[in-house]
Parts: sequence; structure tokens; C-alpha cells
Amino acid sequence: MSKNKNVNMKFVVAITLVVAVILVAVVVFSNKQESTSTEVKQIDITGQPILGKKDAPVTIVEFGDFKCPACKSWGEVIYPKLVSDYIEAGTVKFSFVNVLFHGKESTLGSIAAESVLERNPNVYWDFHQALFDAQPAENHHAQWITLESILEIASGFPEIDQTRLKEDMEQQATMDRVKHDDDLVKEIGVSLTPTIIINGNIIEDPFDYEGIKTVIEKELKDQN
Ligand code: CA
Repeated sequence: MSKNKNVNMKFVVAITLVVAVILVAVVVFSNKQESTSTEVKQIDITGQPILGKKDAPVTIVEFGDFKCPACKSWGEVIYPKLVSDYIEAGTVKFSFVNVLFHGKESTLGSIAAESVLERNPNVYWDFHQALFDAQPAENHHAQWITLESILEIASGFPEIDQTRLKEDMEQQATMDRVKHDDDLVKEIGVSLTPTIIINGNIIEDPFDYEGIKTVIEKELKDQN
């Protein structure tokens, strides 16, 4: 190769590199601008608790853990807005899948919640709320989900048969349902709680209500 050709080749390579870098930058930048979510797939919520109209066009699934402080605050900050803006209006239905990132206590809380869902579906969401309410504001790593504490919480619900709930927890009667949730967590690759998925789109920042609204509104528009 002559010296000239060599210089020319170097020039071509350099230009190509610059163009490639610019293209990548444009793609990354425009993605950042537009998306507040990443598409995974529609979650199958068969057998899961559902709040709202069963045929609501938009489905929000929370992957949450009773032991997780961020899940508790999501439930206090974002969830009530979803209820009043969309769930009560019948445009969104809400579901919850148990995540067991905090081990034994997460599992025990989930077994109890699944038991209430199976035996007393009408009080499931209130019981679910009561469990999160019982999560201590500080030192949440300390043990607070026990057989006794759950029975104490359940005693606030006359509908719940305490003896049966106790048996369900001791015998891990709803472990199949809990395992099913855990399988979903692994299948979707959930690594943080809460993970919020709207019609198959994982929300990047679950505390960004405007971002959540953008995805819901887009999904509602796509349905029409
Ligand atoms: Ca479940």
C-alpha cells in the first residue's frame, strides 16, 4: 500500500468512527428523551389479586415485598393517585405479585396474604394495606413479620378465621401461589422492588408519577 493510500484509509476509518459515535449518541439521547419505560411482556395475572374493573384496558402490576420500605412508601405516595385518577374511573386495574427478596419474613407475609386472598378475597386489599402499615418506619431490617404479628393484624378483620389463617401459615398452605409469584419474578428478571409494569412496560422510576401517567395515557390511546 502506498503512503498516500495508507493516509486515505486512516482518514476513512477516523471519519467512520466519528459518524458511528454521533449515531450512538443520537440514539441514546433520543431514547432518554422519549422513554420512561422498557417493554418486557404482558404479565399473566391469572390467580393474582385484582383491584378495579376486571376488563379495564390498562393493567398495572406491582412486584412488591411487604418487607421493602420503598414498597411501603410507593403505596403511600403513588398508589393512592392511581386509585383516584384511574382505578376508580375503570380505566386501570391493579394487581400485586409477591417478591421474596427479604427472605423468610417476605415469604411468611406472602403466605398469609395469599391465604386471605383465597379464603376472604373481599378483604384482601385491606389486609395487604394493613401489612404494609405494620412495617416499622425505622429499623425495618429487624424482624417484624411473625406468625403472632400477622394474627394480631388479622384480628382487626372479623371476616378472617384466625384459626384457619394460623394453620395456613404453619402448614405453608399457599406456598404454591407464593412459588408461582417467585417464578414470575425470575421469568421477568425483576431485581428491584417495587417494580411497576404497565401493560408489559417496566417503569424506569416507579416514583415518577408523570412518567407513569405518560405510559398509561399512551396505552389508553392505543386501545382506541
Ligand atoms: Ca400471588
